Parts: sequence; C-alpha cells; structure tokens
Amino acid sequence: MGTVTAIRIAKRTGFCYGVREAIDKAKEARAAGKPTHTLGQVVHNEGVIRDLQDLGIRTVGTLDEVEQGAAVVIRAHGVRPEVMDRAAHRGLEVIDGTCTWVIQEQRELSKLVEEGYSIVLLGTPQHPEVVGLLGFAPDAIVVDEEGDWDRIPRRKKMALISQSTQPPWKFEKLAAFMVGRSHELKIVNTVCPVTIRRQQDTLESARDVDLMVVVGGRSSANTKELTRLCGIVGTPAVQIESVRDLGDAAAFAGATVVGVTGGTSTPIEDLHAVARRILELAGTPAAAADAAALADEAFANAATPAGRTTSLPAAAAAG
Ligand code: SF4
Repeated sequence: MGTVTAIRIAKRTGFCYGVREAIDKAKEARAAGKPTHTLGQVVHNEGVIRDLQDLGIRTVGTLDEVEQGAAVVIRAHGVRPEVMDRAAHRGLEVIDGTCTWVIQEQRELSKLVEEGYSIVLLGTPQHPEVVGLLGFAPDAIVVDEEGDWDRIPRRKKMALISQSTQPPWKFEKLAAFMVGRSHELKIVNTVCPVTIRRQQDTLESARDVDLMVVVGGRSSANTKELTRLCGIVGTPAVQIESVRDLGDAAAFAGATVVGVTGGTSTPIEDLHAVARRILELAGTPAAAADAAALADEAFANAATPAGRTTSLPAAAAAG
C-alpha cells in the first residue's frame, strides 16, 4: 500500500523567461500566418515540440531546410553571428529568440576579445549556447569539470566567463583556481539568476520532504545539478524526463511527503502530471483517490508568475 500523503512543488519552476519568450515568439509568428520554423528544438521536451508541430511550427536542423521568405526563430541559447548573417543572406525572416541574458554574455565576450584577454569559458562543450558563444570568441578555452582545468594555460591577462546554467559554486571555484594562473584576472559572472534561484528553491524543498523527484532532460547539466543538490542535504532524489518514467512505486517506499522540481526547460504542466501520477502510484488509498485535487493544491501553493508557461493571451497561445 502506498505511503505518500502530500506533494510539495518547489517555489519557482517551469520555463525560465528566455525559453518562454522564444516559444512565445514562435507561436506569435505562426498566429500571424507566417510559415514558421525553429532552428533546433526550442526546448528538449517532447510535449512542447509536439504542441508546436500541431500549431504548424517545424523544427529544422539547418537553415537550408527553410524556404525563402519564411520565418526562422532563433532559440534562447542563441547562435554564432555567422548563422544570423546566413539567414539574412538567404532572405529568411529572422525572429531572434536569443535570451536577453545570453545576448549580454555574447556582448561581454566580444568586449573581452577586443580588450585582448585570453578567455576561459566555463561551459559544457558542444552545448548550443556554448557553440553560439564561441562564435564571439573563437579562441576561448572551454572547460567544464575540474579534471579539465589543468588545460588552462598561464597568461598575463586572463578573463573568466560562464555559460548561463553552470552552478555558481563551480564558477567561484574556477575563479579561485585561475587567480594563481594569471597576473591580471577579469571575472565576468554570467551565471543566470534564474538558474541560481532554481537551485535555491530546490534545496529549500528538499530539506522539507522525504524524497525529491527532479523532472528534466537526462543530459541537461542544470537538471543533474538539481538532483545533486538534493543529495547534498541528504534527501534521496529520483531524476526523470517525464511522467512516463514513473512506473515503479518501490522508489517511493516509506515516503510520506514528496517534493517535485524541474529544470528550466520543463513546463509546469509536466510537473503537474508528475505530481498527480506520484499520488496515484504511491499515495495512501485516500491520497490516490484524491490525486487530481491534491496535485492542483500543491500547484496552487507553489505557482508564481515565474512559473508561467506562456506570456501570450490565450487566443495567440492557442494559435
Ligand atoms: S537559463 Fe537564464 S540565460 Fe539561459 S535561457 Fe533561461 S533565462 Fe536565459
């Protein structure tokens, strides 16, 4: 028999503003009747991609797949400047969904290049945001885990900058490491505040519950970080991509209160479905019978404006 009586949703969840805005821009373009494409998946979430497809918005891998005159949405991660130039050259209507925070990172990088710094970028190699950033500083050295850091050369004038979703503790540790490698060190802290808040809220929830469920992409570094943080406060955590991964009640054995949080690419609707499923699967008989209402309640207690999935009026969002 199940033991779960309640679900707590972390205070701020759902899309970050960058992802939300990019999705909304694609929907708006489509609602205005334009043939609309997104360059790469706007978000690595099957449900969202399916919804966009249903609205007639196609995901393409390259600009060559977009017919002349059509609209192409650049996702929140941004792209190399050459990609923007090529799109314009091909006569496409570019809708720039690059997150304002990422635009700021790109500007900071260009400035560091102009100022002659040897640049170290803390980020996940091959991550689209990092690939885009390297377009602004092709000689930057990308490092990720601590094992990589020995590759950083000793230079007189060095700068450190970060991909938006890196954990703040890692950035600080790398900054300290680099102090001993340079004469002049410029630190530009571009860890996104949304990432920081998400981590704080997850820690806060994890302290109050018996088990955490973290919902997000399997390979997403920031989702993995949320799972790791739960472990730091001693709360076991299960990381899943979607409600479909929840089949085994054994994972909830003995847990009474379960917390749910998600990465910045996970819509709040997915968290709601997860909350409900946990109660159905592992709830006490009373909680399982009332799963939908209890999930709504958990959500009502947590949802903040930051947890919105869209900023569009209902008609435009529906396309
Ligand atoms: S995590 Fe921050 S920087 Fe990255 S897309 Fe979201 S809001 Fe923008």
